[in-house]
Amino acid sequence: MEREVQRLRRAFRSGRSRPLRFRLQQLEALRRMVQEREADILAAIAADLCKSELNAYSQEVITILGEIDFMLNNLADWVTAKPVKKNLFTMLDEAYVQAEPLGVVLIIGAWNYPFVLTIQPLIGAIAAGNAVILKPSELSEHTAQVLAKLLPQYLDQDLYAVVNGGVKETTELLKERFDHILYTGNAAVGRVVMEAAAKHLTPVTLELGGKSPCYIDKDCDLDTVCRRITWGKYMNCGQTCIAPDYVLCEASLQNHIVQKIKETVQEFYGENIKESPDYERIINLRHFKRIQSLLEGQKIAFGGETDEATRYIAPTVLTDVDPEAKVMQEEIFGPVLPIVPVKNADEAIQFINEREKPLALYIFSHNDKLIRRMIDETSSGGVTGNDVIMHFTLNSLPFGGVGHSGMGAYHGKHTFDTFSHQRPCLLKSLKGESANKLRYPPNSQSKVDWAKFFLLKQFHKGKLGLLLLAVLGIVAALLVKKHQAVLRRQALSIFLVAHSLRGPRKQ
Ligand code: NAD
Repeated sequence: MEREVQRLRRAFRSGRSRPLRFRLQQLEALRRMVQEREADILAAIAADLCKSELNAYSQEVITILGEIDFMLNNLADWVTAKPVKKNLFTMLDEAYVQAEPLGVVLIIGAWNYPFVLTIQPLIGAIAAGNAVILKPSELSEHTAQVLAKLLPQYLDQDLYAVVNGGVKETTELLKERFDHILYTGNAAVGRVVMEAAAKHLTPVTLELGGKSPCYIDKDCDLDTVCRRITWGKYMNCGQTCIAPDYVLCEASLQNHIVQKIKETVQEFYGENIKESPDYERIINLRHFKRIQSLLEGQKIAFGGETDEATRYIAPTVLTDVDPEAKVMQEEIFGPVLPIVPVKNADEAIQFINEREKPLALYIFSHNDKLIRRMIDETSSGGVTGNDVIMHFTLNSLPFGGVGHSGMGAYHGKHTFDTFSHQRPCLLKSLKGESANKLRYPPNSQSKVDWAKFFLLKQFHKGKLGLLLLAVLGIVAALLVKKHQAVLRRQALSIFLVAHSLRGPRKQ
């Protein structure tokens, strides 16, 4: 591992990854890989998650193609230095913010959307000019193998590498020094990653999970609500980090919700769900048994059928769930939807706030004010009102958690920012030294007064502006007398200051 990281660091230090043209070429090559090797990618996802080609394409490949195009269209603007406002001391200087790459970054992916969760961060890391080590999840082993095979065929091999393996390999990798780590997965491993990163003072982005609540107000159209929830909950067999984990609603709504979700499940997946090409399987036996155990002792309103041989768990709804039940203690990450009755929105807000901050919050209501109130009075990584999952699809929104659901965010420009340092640059001239006397020792009250004058005052037109112009005129005259040598430059700077005072600025 050490040699691999050093190899990438050497390539990064060569400066090859920095030019805009190179970054665009690599992103285009990545797009070519996705287009030319689509069949290999879809087959790997199918082998890992029993996902149909159509679903793999629409849930994973489209996201990646859209993200690459977005970067290609915007990168030239993002890498351009952005001038910033100046103060009176720096009026004649150049001040700007320049995004610069961080160095060698590590991306650790999870298995549930094995292609998107590794390639989407990779796109932003390349766009930002970094070298990257990609560590796909070993649980989605087919996708991991395809990535290790394909990426070196299309991308610069000295700058981008795939490391495959399990806990042992990842542990070894984490001993190395990186310039940023983006990890997607559960919170327990998130702690391991953060601890390892702390040894090197490496910043981390942790994309974790949690129990994302879904509040259904009595004032809403239950037909539509239940269709949207059914889609988001049972997609990928419930193995979606921002799937609605559980429902909070008034007890009287429970039976209607159960009935409508049941009808929708039938409409979406047919009479025989096992035969549906749109219904996936649980990733492995460990997770299958874990989810199965969450059903014990629960009131199953519908679903609940399981088949260990194929790791099938039917879309399931539980009613009258006790908040203390096991199913309410951990993220479900499977096709089981508990309904927890609450008296009203206030109790729902309290319920949410008494638990760890979730990755997503969903609120369904015709009452816009209620939705906004719930947003104001709770906290979560992201929110969608009157739908589920959809905030993920908008790459202008930063995607990430808060508190135990994660830290940092990515998607679109946010990924570029995550993998960049916003470097503040101020370029001064070696001339005009006399004006600097103000900040050099020995200090005096008059120097402090002048510093206050230059740095703290906000000037307006009118009487005060004229008065200050007069003062500046006197200053100019004194400076002219005292420092003939720098006369021209000072006079110019005074002129510019005076000019700015007469401008239409309003603060
Ligand atoms: P996982 O088992 O695939 O683990 C994720 C990564 O961590 C893998 O690459 C794995 O090799 C590595 N890893 C596992 N154990 C490790 C250890 N002891 N030391 C170092 N590395 C280790 O995925 P998972 O954790 O089962 O993923 C499911 C969780 O991820 C859920 O909580 C889900 O909500 C969350 N998730 C979050 C997002 C998001 O974008 N926020 C996306 C997907 C999944």
